[in-house]
Amino acid sequence: MTHNISDISLNQSQHIQNVGFCEYKHTGLYVDNSFIIPEQLALRTKYFIPAHTVLSIQQCNVSAIRTRTSIQVASELHVEADDCIRFLNHSCQPNAAIISKYSEKDNYATIVLESIRDIAMDDEICFDYASTEFTLTEELLNKPCLCNSPRCRGILTGYSELSQEQKQYLVAHIPVAHFLL
Ligand SMILES: [Zn+2]
Repeated sequence: MTHNISDISLNQSQHIQNVGFCEYKHTGLYVDNSFIIPEQLALRTKYFIPAHTVLSIQQCNVSAIRTRTSIQVASELHVEADDCIRFLNHSCQPNAAIISKYSEKDNYATIVLESIRDIAMDDEICFDYASTEFTLTEELLNKPCLCNSPRCRGILTGYSELSQEQKQYLVAHIPVAHFLL
């Protein structure tokens, strides 16, 4: 089955909603003030989370439109995940990753949020925008990164704007979406 991206764009720009299940495997997730980025909300955890724990799985409709909160799932397709996922902030040294699988046949994507290292109680859950996004919206691209991690790259970018060395480091350390490589 072939799909037509402009059709998807017309359909989805009116009303984007998730189509399938949305399951939070880790019940201690909550949204509260970010202690890394001032005046920003963040997804946090009530309990300790061991590395490689699946925190959430959800199925989402795809859209051709990139937004401030969308997650890229294929070379020109994006999803708006549910509210909790939208509160995930960026970190250049993240403790979680988003792994997506786009089903062309069913025209939806499955999004999995997984911890990639141990996460302490009350810590903020974050992922690296450059591991899922080819680029970012104008609103975010090249804005200062406030993640405060020892390996902070200084500005927010997608994968395509990283230097060769930064790309190599990313791929060696965290899951990076296959369609970016
Ligand atoms: Zn940073």
